[in-house]
Formats: sequence, C-alpha cells, structure tokens
Amino acid sequence: MARTVVVTGSTSGIGLGIARAFAAEGANLVINGFGPAEEIEANRKALEAHGGKAIYHGADMTRPAEIADLIATAETAFGGIDVLVNNAGIQHVSPVEDFPIDKWDQIIAINLTSSFHTIRACVPGMKAKKKGRIINVASAHALVASPYKSAYVAAKHGIMGLTKSVALELAEFGITINAICPGYVLTPLVEKQIPDTARARGISEEEVKTDVMLRLQATKEFVAIEEVGATAIFLASDAARQITGTSISIDGGWTAQ
Ligand code: NAD
Repeated sequence: MARTVVVTGSTSGIGLGIARAFAAEGANLVINGFGPAEEIEANRKALEAHGGKAIYHGADMTRPAEIADLIATAETAFGGIDVLVNNAGIQHVSPVEDFPIDKWDQIIAINLTSSFHTIRACVPGMKAKKKGRIINVASAHALVASPYKSAYVAAKHGIMGLTKSVALELAEFGITINAICPGYVLTPLVEKQIPDTARARGISEEEVKTDVMLRLQATKEFVAIEEVGATAIFLASDAARQITGTSISIDGGWTAQ
C-alpha cells in the first residue's frame, strides 16, 4: 500500500525535492507552503505522475490551529500518516543588536515551534499504528553556528533537542525521529540571503558564495536538493529502523572542522 507522506514547506526548494523523491516511490503526499496558486497546482499534479495522490494544504506554520488542521486533513484523506517531514523554514541575517524582534519570533515559530505542533498532532495516529517516521530538516546550523544568524541557529539547535527528546519517548512504538543537517543548498532561501550577507559583511555577492558559504564546505560544492531527498528516503526505510534521535550531516565536510 502506498505510504502517506506530509512535507511542510514543500512548494519550493528542499521540501519540494523531498516530496518529489517520495512521489517517485508512489507515495501519497500532502504538500504545504506558500507561492503562486498556478505553480503550486502544477507541482501538485506532477507529484501524481507516479501513481500516488497529492493534496495541497496551505497551513501557515506560525498558526497552531492551521497546523492541526493540516495533520487532520492528511489523516482523513489517506487514513493515517506514515512519514512526517518538518521542513518549512525561513532565514534572516542581521547583527544581533539590530535583529528585528518580529523576525526572531517568526523564525522560532516556523523553524522550531511548528515542528512541535506537527509532531504533537501526528504522534497519536503513529502510536496507534505502532509505526512512523519523523524527519526534521535541520541544518549544519543545528550543530555549529555562524554570525548574524542568531534566530536561525537557535531554532535549528532547538530542533536537535526536540529530535532527541521525542526519539526517547517514541522509541518503543516503532516510530523514529531524526534530523537531516544539510550544508548550503542553492535554493530560494539561500539565494535571498546572499545580498543581506554581502551587506552585513561588506563584501561582494560572489565573495559570499565562495568565501562565506563554501568556505567551510570542504568539497567546495553546494549540496544538491536530490541528495537531501535521497537521505530522507533512507531515513524512512526499514533499513533505518534503529536510527533514531540523531542527525545525518550532508555538508561537504563543513562540521568535520
Ligand atoms: P525555500 O525558501 O526554498 O523553501 C521554504 C519553504 O517553506 C517554502 O515552501 C515556503 O513556502 C515554506 N514556508 C515559509 N514560511 C512558511 C510558513 N509560515 N508556513 C508554511 N510554509 C512556509 O527554502 P529551502 O532552502 O528549501 O529550506 C527548506 C528547509 O531546509 C528549511 O528548514 C531550511 O532551514 C533548511 N535548510 C536549508 C539549507 C539551504 O542551504 N538551502 C541548508 C540547511 C537547511
């Protein structure tokens, strides 16, 4: 039977890549995120090309009631959730003393608290089935820091704590929860922060790519979206049954330093 996979923030970038990877295996999908309606519909349709069904839910990850409705909708449509991928995330780059308070709150809400809400809503259904996979798209910034990203680094470190704690709670219920920690992947989220980082550091946009983003990525290459998708597929597989409460880095050697 086709698995049901919910991916938050899957109208773009890594989330869409993960949705495509599961769709290629015939999974049913619930996608989520913002963007132009025609683009979302085209992506949704394309996800059905391999035989699974895909539905879109526009829950705003800052709103707990909408997140609860996203999970309830997925459970009603497909009779349960097999894989939850917490991926929605935003970034803001600024020195801490100038960091806008509303941006701090928004980043903590979307990049950290929304995962608490999705997990909280999903767990009863997964416990009842004694089976489930939760995958949190964290970041190298869940393990190490960079300057000017206080909210993002705090939220991503928080996700690691959430991953570990929930793993212990769910370990005897056939449910695993892990984090994927990518280095830099060229997605709209990263493209958008290039001008801000250039401004904050007083360097050119090209220098941001080579001297900041890829400086610690030892391979000197950006991570491909498909590589994150393949790791999510692995974590959701039976072979990953004993992997829980931990992280898999895909960062070209960044956090080896
Ligand atoms: P992206 O900007 O391409 O995609 C972000 C997605 O989140 C979009 O679908 C967007 O609509 C959605 N989103 C944003 N705010 C939302 C909200 N309030 N409610 C619902 N959906 C919302 O970014 P990306 O680079 O693909 O990032 C995806 C995840 O990967 C994030 O958690 C990010 O922190 C993480 N990540 C990215 C990189 C990278 O280099 N791109 C590296 C490590 C981790």
